[in-house]
Amino acid sequence: MSAAATGGPGTGTPPPKLSLRGLRLGYRSEGRRTLALRDLDLDVAEGEFLALVGPSGCGKSTLLKIIAGLVTATGGTVRLDGRPAPEAPERVGLLFQNDALLPWRTVADNIRFPLAIAGVPAAEQRERVRDLISAVGLDDFGHYYPRRLSGGMRKRVALARILAADPDVFLMDEPFGPLDAQTRARISADFLALWEKVGKTVVFVTHDVDEAITLADRVAVMTAGPGRVKEEYRVDIPRPRSFDDVRFSAPFRELRQRISRSLAEEFDPTR
Ligand code: ADP
Ligand code: MG
Repeated sequence: MSAAATGGPGTGTPPPKLSLRGLRLGYRSEGRRTLALRDLDLDVAEGEFLALVGPSGCGKSTLLKIIAGLVTATGGTVRLDGRPAPEAPERVGLLFQNDALLPWRTVADNIRFPLAIAGVPAAEQRERVRDLISAVGLDDFGHYYPRRLSGGMRKRVALARILAADPDVFLMDEPFGPLDAQTRARISADFLALWEKVGKTVVFVTHDVDEAITLADRVAVMTAGPGRVKEEYRVDIPRPRSFDDVRFSAPFRELRQRISRSLAEEFDPTR
């Protein structure tokens, strides 16, 4: 193997955007210790969309919390751009199942929030908010309060807000999970199109293998808890992808079968 193929200093290959090595995390609660992650290694390249699938309780949410700096690993390293993370946690954006909108602010003001914190000038804030509202399909709803919105619309606001924050790495934890199938398909399709334009690094947790393959460049499968990355599958389906058509392609069906089998091996009927 040539030096260039191995990457690293002096080889001209940039370090991975995100690099996790030997991650371990134990929780202690009510006198009991649960090992949530063990020996987890994972690299994510700049601009790569990585989907993470694994059985319930295998440590997916824990992993995202560690990357975001909300939980400190008991062992191992997290590097962002080759440096120990989180040096600058604002470079990492989180979208959880719970959309966490501010109920006392309108749609526009929720989306504006990260821009105001970043000190973006007022005129530019207004322009960017207008563009983002449009990008997520919420024209005419800017003055609404979150309580008047459907679950899908709230998700769209949360999505616009994370796009406004414009982090280097998007961490998404089953973001569309609680929505009904129809709404979920529409918002996933819109998200796919938006992401294909911005091309930011994404780690996207989902329990839905179809969603993982449709969206991602690579799917990592985790073992049952304590989780580690067991297998990785490259998704060689060209972009831009059509959300509705991609699942009928031969590579999609083949990948779905392999990934589903790999996941099934981790299923524990006692959980
Ligand atoms: P996943 O998101 O894959 O379902 P989690 O990361 O939420 O998994 O949890 C991994 C394991 O750690 C589970 O066994 C869960 O019960 C345990 N766990 C998660 N959070 C806590 C906590 N705050 N205290 C104690 N145990 C926890
Ligand atoms: Mg979880």
